[in-house]
Amino acid sequence: MAYRKPSDTEVVEAIKDALRRHGVISSQRKLTELALKELRRHDPDYSVSEQRVRRLAIQNDLASIDIHGRDTREKTRAGACPVCGGKTVKIRNLTVYGGTVTTGYKCRACGYWTGLKQRVPTLYVFSPK
Ligand SMILES: [Zn+2]
Repeated sequence: MAYRKPSDTEVVEAIKDALRRHGVISSQRKLTELALKELRRHDPDYSVSEQRVRRLAIQNDLASIDIHGRDTREKTRAGACPVCGGKTVKIRNLTVYGGTVTTGYKCRACGYWTGLKQRVPTLYVFSPK
C-alpha cells in the first residue's frame, strides 16, 4: 500500500480539529488516530507517525501536554528533549553551603523534566489550549 505524507500545515490543522472535536485526548496513539481520521478525509492514503504528531502539537502550541514517565537506572545526559527535540536545561537547587547542585533537567518548550536518573516518558495527555 502506498502511503503519502501530509504537509506540516495539514497535520497541524488535523490536530486542531481532533482536539476541538474530542477535548482532552489521553494518549499519543489516540491523538494520532484522531488526527489521521481528519487527514484521511482529504486523502485516504495519508499516514503520519505518532512522534511527528506529538512534536507538531508542541511546536505549534496546540495543546497543553501532561507527561507521565517512569524512572530508569540510566544516568540523564544533557541535550535534546526526548519529547519535543527542544534543548533541556539544568534544574539547580541551592545547597546549604551557598553553592548550587544540579538535581535534574527540564525542557522549557514542553515541560518535560527528569531527575539525574533518566525519566522516560510513557504517556502523554493532550488538552486543547
Ligand atoms: Zn521538550
